[in-house]
Amino acid sequence: MRCEALVIGGGATGAGIARDLSMRGVEVILLERGDFSAGATGRSHGMLHSGARYAVKDPDSARECAIENEVLKRIAPFCIEDTGGIFLGIDDSYASYLDTFMKGCSNTGVKAEEITVREAMEREPLISPSTRVAVSVLDAYIDPFFLTQANVAEARAMGAEVRNHCEVAGMDLWEDTVMEVRIRDRRSTSLNVIKPEMVVNATGAWSSRIASMAGLEIPIRVDKGSLVIMDGRKVNGLVNRLRLPSDGDIIVPSHSSSIVGTTCDEVPSPDDCVATIDEVKLLIHQAAEMVPSIGEARAVRAYAGIRPLPAEADEGRDISRTFKLIDHSQDGVVNMVSIIGGKLTTYRLMAEKASDLVIEKLGNRGKCRTASQEIGGECSDHEFDLISDLQAGRMAAKYGAACRDIAVMCSRTLRGRELLCSCEQVLRGEAEYFAQTEDVLNIADLLRRTRAGMGYCQSGMCVTRSLSVLEESGGDPLPLVQDFLEERWKGIQPVLFDTQLRQELLKVQLFKSLSLEWKGGEGH
Ligand SMILES: Cc1cc2nc3c(=O)[nH]c(=O)nc-3n(C[C@H](O)[C@H](O)[C@H](O)COP(=O)(O)OP(=O)(O)OC[C@H]3O[C@@H](n4cnc5c(N)ncnc54)[C@H](O)[C@@H]3O)c2cc1C
Repeated sequence: MRCEALVIGGGATGAGIARDLSMRGVEVILLERGDFSAGATGRSHGMLHSGARYAVKDPDSARECAIENEVLKRIAPFCIEDTGGIFLGIDDSYASYLDTFMKGCSNTGVKAEEITVREAMEREPLISPSTRVAVSVLDAYIDPFFLTQANVAEARAMGAEVRNHCEVAGMDLWEDTVMEVRIRDRRSTSLNVIKPEMVVNATGAWSSRIASMAGLEIPIRVDKGSLVIMDGRKVNGLVNRLRLPSDGDIIVPSHSSSIVGTTCDEVPSPDDCVATIDEVKLLIHQAAEMVPSIGEARAVRAYAGIRPLPAEADEGRDISRTFKLIDHSQDGVVNMVSIIGGKLTTYRLMAEKASDLVIEKLGNRGKCRTASQEIGGECSDHEFDLISDLQAGRMAAKYGAACRDIAVMCSRTLRGRELLCSCEQVLRGEAEYFAQTEDVLNIADLLRRTRAGMGYCQSGMCVTRSLSVLEESGGDPLPLVQDFLEERWKGIQPVLFDTQLRQELLKVQLFKSLSLEWKGGEGH
C-alpha cells in the first residue's frame, strides 16, 4: 500500500493532522494501535484551557491556549460546553500570587477579570466559604472523544484511509529515507507493509519508540497524571485554585460527573498508567478545599494519562506545556517528522504546524483551513422522527453532523429506542450504529463512541446490553466482557472505599449471576 503521508497515532493530534492534510488534498493513511483517543487524549480532564493556568510560569503555552480556546469554540462548538471558569484564592496564600497572576494573564493575552466573592458564589454555590478572591476566565469543557472522532470522520470523508487497532511494528530505511513501514492489524494475522512518502510521528508518549524504529532518538520524560471521576456535577464551570499549578487544583464539570485532577510524577514507561489510592485521596482532599462537597461525593473511578515532556528540566511541573515539531532531516532521516508535547487545547495548532512541514516537503498544496472550517458542519435538524427533542439535542452534542444518521438508526425499531445506559441516557440504536462499523472490536470501543458506561454506575448495568449489541454483530461475547472488566478494575480499585465499595459489591453479585469471573470479584 502506498500513500503520500502516513500519520502514526490516533490521538487528537494525529486525527487533526489527518484532517488537515486531507483538506489540502494529500493522500493520507492514519494508524492507531488501540482505539482513537485511547492515549493521553482520552485520559485528559477535557479542559479547554483559557491559558490562565500557564500565564505565570509558561507564557508560550498560555498564549497558544488563549488563541486556540477561541478557535476551537468557533470550529468545534458541538463538543464544547462553554461554561467559563473561575480561579479561587481560598486562603492567605493567594495574596502575593493574585498580582503576579493578573500580570501574567495580561502579558500573555489571556482574558481574566477579578470578580467579587459574592458573584463567584452565585456562579458556583458549592465553593468554599473561605474563598477570599475570585478571577473569572474563559476555560470550557471539551469532550476529547467526540472531538477526535469528528476529526477522524472528516478525514475519512475527504479520502483518508484510517484504521484503529493497527500498530506500527517496524520500519525499513534505505540510506536516509524510510522506505517501508510494517504494520500489525488486529483484524488479521499477517503483517502488512506501507510505502509512504512522508511519515508523521504523532504518538505522544510513545514517540521515542517510533523514532527508534528509524534509528532516531527523541529524549522525553514521561510524566503520569492521575485524575478521579466524582459522581455528579459539583460545579457549573471549571474551578481552579489560584496558585502555581500543583496537585488537585482543577475541577471540571464533565457530562454527569466532575473530574478532579491532576498529579505529576515521572514514570519509567508510558504503559505504566494506573492511578493509586494515595493519589486519589490527595486529589479529593485538595479539591475539597475549593469545593467542600467534593469530599462527601462518591469517587466512581480513577484513571491516569501520560504526558510526553521534552526532557529539559528535573521537575515535571517546570517543563513547558508548549509543543515541539521535529524535522528529522536534521538527524539524517529526510522523510520523517515528529510532533510531541502540547495540550489537547492546542491540538489543531500542532496539526497545522506539522501539516505545513509535510506540505513543504511534498510540494505546495495550499494553505491550512482548519482555523476557520467547522468540524463536520452543523447538525441543523433536531426534529428527528420518534426521538424526543431532549434525546436529539443530546446526540447533537455528542455526534455533531453525524447525529441525524444515528437518530434515524434509533428510531427505526422499538429496540433501537430502548435505553442501553441509563446513567448517560444512551439508546441501544446508538450502540447498534457504531457496532456495525469496522472500528468497533470490543466493548470499550463502543463506550468511547457513545458514553455508555461512563456514568455513575461505571458499566454495572449497561455492559451486558452492550455485549448483546456486539454479539448481534458477530462478536464472541465472553472474552470481550472479561477483558473489559479487567481493564475497568484498574480504575475502580483505587476508589474502593465508602459508598463506592457498596456499589462495587452489587456489581460483583450481578456479574456472578452471569458466571463472570474476573479479578475484581476475587477480593470481595
Ligand atoms: C493527566 C493529563 C491531563 C491532561 N489534561 C488536559 C486538559 O484538561 N486539557 C488539555 O488541553 N490538555 C490536557 N492534557 C494534555 C493532552 O491530553 C495531550 O497533550 C494531548 O491529548 C496529546 O494528544 P496526542 O494525540 O499528541 O497524544 P495521544 O493522545 O497520547 O495519542 C498518541 C497515540 O499514539 C498511539 N500509538 C502509540 N504507539 C503506536 C504505534 N506503534 N502504532 C500506532 N499508534 C501508536 C497511542 O495508542 C495513542 O493513542 C492532559 C494530559 C494528561 C496526561
